[in-house]
Amino acid sequence: MTATLDPATDAGLAGAAEAVAVTARCVDLAFPAVTGQGTEFAVAESAMDAVTVDALIRDARAAHGDVAVQQAQAARLLAATAAERAVSTLRQVGGETTEPAASAARLAVHPTPIHQVRSAIGAAVHAGRFQYDATTLPLPPELVSLRALVRRFVTEQLLPHEARLNEDGDLPVELWAELERRGRELDLNALGLPAEHGGMGLGLVGQLVAAEEMGRVAVGFRHVVGTPPGSLPLARHGTAAQHAAYLRPWLRGERWGAWATTEPEAGSDLAAIRTVAVRDGDGWRIDGAKHFITGLDRADFVITFAKTDPDRGLKGLTAFLVDLDAPGVEVGREQHMMGREGLHSFELRYDGLHVGDDARLGEPDEGFRLLIADVSRMRVLMAGHCLGVAARLIDIAADWGRGRVQFGRPIGEFEALQWYLADSAAELLACRSSAYRTAMAIDAGQRAQAESATVKAYGTELACRVADRAMQILGGTGYCTELPVEALYRAVRLWRIAEGSSEIQRMLVGRQLAAGWRPEVGVA
Ligand SMILES: Cc1cc2nc3c(=O)[nH]c(=O)nc-3n(C[C@H](O)[C@H](O)[C@H](O)COP(=O)(O)OP(=O)(O)OC[C@H]3O[C@@H](n4cnc5c(N)ncnc54)[C@H](O)[C@@H]3O)c2cc1C
Repeated sequence: MTATLDPATDAGLAGAAEAVAVTARCVDLAFPAVTGQGTEFAVAESAMDAVTVDALIRDARAAHGDVAVQQAQAARLLAATAAERAVSTLRQVGGETTEPAASAARLAVHPTPIHQVRSAIGAAVHAGRFQYDATTLPLPPELVSLRALVRRFVTEQLLPHEARLNEDGDLPVELWAELERRGRELDLNALGLPAEHGGMGLGLVGQLVAAEEMGRVAVGFRHVVGTPPGSLPLARHGTAAQHAAYLRPWLRGERWGAWATTEPEAGSDLAAIRTVAVRDGDGWRIDGAKHFITGLDRADFVITFAKTDPDRGLKGLTAFLVDLDAPGVEVGREQHMMGREGLHSFELRYDGLHVGDDARLGEPDEGFRLLIADVSRMRVLMAGHCLGVAARLIDIAADWGRGRVQFGRPIGEFEALQWYLADSAAELLACRSSAYRTAMAIDAGQRAQAESATVKAYGTELACRVADRAMQILGGTGYCTELPVEALYRAVRLWRIAEGSSEIQRMLVGRQLAAGWRPEVGVA
């Protein structure tokens, strides 16, 4: 049977909205009955599903033509699946499931059986008719131009060096310097920094556009376009002297900064940081060890976090700017990681390091506030990167499926492979809707804590699933280093771990649920 596009967009959207409402109701019923972290995370996942698919439904309602039809199909597929999962979780915690289970079962076949929707999406992706590319988004003209600029920069300046980066593990320093110079020339190197600090002053939506486009090239190029990690707190909390000595030279490409929170005993749990800074004359003496610190091969200085009041946990942290050539600082061995071509992580030790009080960034014991101020933004931007990776991988997998013939047919005609494409494209659309809506909310001054945690977890997990499916579609060729699929597959795996792991994001959503937050579904 040939799958066709579902013509009943309105009915499909209504079904999707109802399934999201079932999911949200299950969250409401199940959360008070959770039995421990396992079921709490399962309920959190359903809340995350509801937020994500609801964003897509809202976008579909505002869209027109094929985009609206395809978004509605994607929403239908994801919402029906989410409702079934939410009912299963509710059942596990002993909740009454008769009514939601009946609704979920009906919505899986009405108005169209969900397997037909999946086949229709998969066939459309295979035929190149499904619009998962970000350029279909309605954006203000300046952001449409920004997207075009970054896409051109990626295509013309960065992609030509990607194979070499993946093959050699790095690029020559002169080439990095040249690429960075070209990025600076186009004002692409400090997108999120306020204009008074030499940045472009873009809101989160604008930065998300750039992050998404940067996802279309190897992760190692990430620092060429965007906002240097750590530069925002430096801009916000730094003194005029610190701006002159660190921030401005960093933006000019004359100095390079790194960011050091993680320690062997303190990863997700930053309250466990053991590096201490104690008053020493008119300055501070810092002792301790960090690890996994990226960029120390190039960095001149590091923004580091130390306990200044060890009894107060996170409330006893202070940030310092540390010059890496200062006596008492030792960059240790490189810690080799997978999927990190062009990026290198190291151990770092402070042994009797003396810094002046002018090295302190922000107020004493205010380090944690400084550290988390931009965390929601970082989460959304990481998801943005994942969106770009996912779109590129779907492009590659769909192309491959059209050309590779086995058993006398292009393998992309096999329905099972089309389902991989369908799931990938549908999840990508939903994640994009939720990422942009969350970015807009943050730009409008909302904290959007649960939503940004959702976007981070959903986006990073989506990228891993899409990479896995793409590799499956390419078979041995996907595993082979001649195409970028295997490198992307390795690279995206980090993002479920770093910058707040998937479990930490579920924990945050769980905390928000405990505090009374619920997914706001079905609001026009
Ligand atoms: C390639 C790479 C580059 C990095 N670059 C930097 C850098 O430049 N600067 C820097 O400061 N750090 C950096 N990091 C560190 C990174 O931020 C940490 O790896 C991350 O915070 C997780 O900490 P961890 O690795 O110690 O894992 P752990 O915290 O030990 O976590 C291990 C597992 O336990 C889970 N877990 C932890 N707590 C809970 C809980 N309460 N409930 C349920 N599950 C839990 C985690 O989700 C994870 O799955 C980098 C790491 C890598 C791998």
